Amino acid sequence: IVDTGGFVEGSEDVFESAIRMQVKVAVEEATVLVFMVDAETGITDLDLRVADMLRRNKKEVLLVVNKVDNNNRLHDATEFYSMGFDHNFFISSQSGAGTGELLDEIAKRIENIPPTDGTIPRIAIVGQPNVGKSSLTNALLGEERNIVTEVAGTTRDAIHSRYTKFGFDFMLIDTAGVRRKARVHEDLEFYSVMRAIKSLEESDLIILMIDATLGIEAQDMAIFRLAQRRNKGIIIAVNKWDLIEKDTNTALEFEKTIKEKIAPFTDIPILFISVLDKVRIFKTIETAMEVYENRNRKIKTSELNDIMLAAIERVPPPSVKGRYAKIKYVTQLPTYFPAFAFFVNNPNYVKDSYKQYLENQLRSNFKLTGVPIGLFMREK
Ligand code: GDP
Repeated sequence: IVDTGGFVEGSEDVFESAIRMQVKVAVEEATVLVFMVDAETGITDLDLRVADMLRRNKKEVLLVVNKVDNNNRLHDATEFYSMGFDHNFFISSQSGAGTGELLDEIAKRIENIPPTDGTIPRIAIVGQPNVGKSSLTNALLGEERNIVTEVAGTTRDAIHSRYTKFGFDFMLIDTAGVRRKARVHEDLEFYSVMRAIKSLEESDLIILMIDATLGIEAQDMAIFRLAQRRNKGIIIAVNKWDLIEKDTNTALEFEKTIKEKIAPFTDIPILFISVLDKVRIFKTIETAMEVYENRNRKIKTSELNDIMLAAIERVPPPSVKGRYAKIKYVTQLPTYFPAFAFFVNNPNYVKDSYKQYLENQLRSNFKLTGVPIGLFMREK
């Protein structure tokens, strides 16, 4: 979901300021357009203008009339049919009425991007404008065109380039952004986030490039958290390391600062690279391959239980209102990223702090570096 921040009303030129660049970019890039209007206020002038803009785009629009909380409202809301959209939904976000049908219709229209097929790692290089993404891509793909196969856009406008060399075999995922870059230069930052999101969605793991001269910024954090939520593998590559004056502790201190920001998920490889001087480029890909392996790791149930039940015995869950959680059994779930189910007498007795302990134990005993994992408490 791309949140464009909505329209701003009440400026001198409502329409000019309302249809902001972000909205235009989002409309251009989105798979499904959900146009939300308000049953309480009825059709406004701005609604009509937005409708007009959306119609010109030719993409299918789902018109969603919100705040239809009761039958009276439903009666009033029928006026929105006059806007002439083919798909109309009457919902109440407050109560959730009608949202199931809407979700079904949205889901139907979203291409099914397959999770990894387990054969070739798909890597997206993401980061802010000018951080060095193209330079890294070129360093990998550019020089020896013969080792690169352009795999025709498997989905939409993404370009998948397959790289096989030095024992590596992976796909670099890039969304065709350069072409549009010029047109939307007014909002390059927002556009680059959109592009990162798209590439990220199609990949198994990301190389998040950070500019050594700037450090980790809000936009980098947004991408990091998204990758974390979407259970993608993550590597942080601090580029332009050649520009930094260094003493023995510089890298360590830099790493510490990053880890403070990305906490609590700090089990992430952080590399200090220079694409310009070709420093640790090979290492970056090597690390990406390790993270990919970690993401596909399947741990034997017996081994998992031996180690985790011992860890639970060593540090048992603290009591919650005098009651104790008894964890009896652990199993890895058959998901495309590592996820674990803990069978427990009452899941409510396991607090977040204890889940964090369990996660730390998993990470220190099994190689899961760079990979967000799932922990689920199930009643047994
Ligand atoms: P993108 O917008 O992320 O694709 O960034 P580019 O690859 O176009 O790089 C932006 C600028 O940073 C270019 O001028 C590059 O030459 C420069 N650059 C890339 N990597 C490095 C590096 O490791 N060190 C230095 N000093 N400059 C770099």
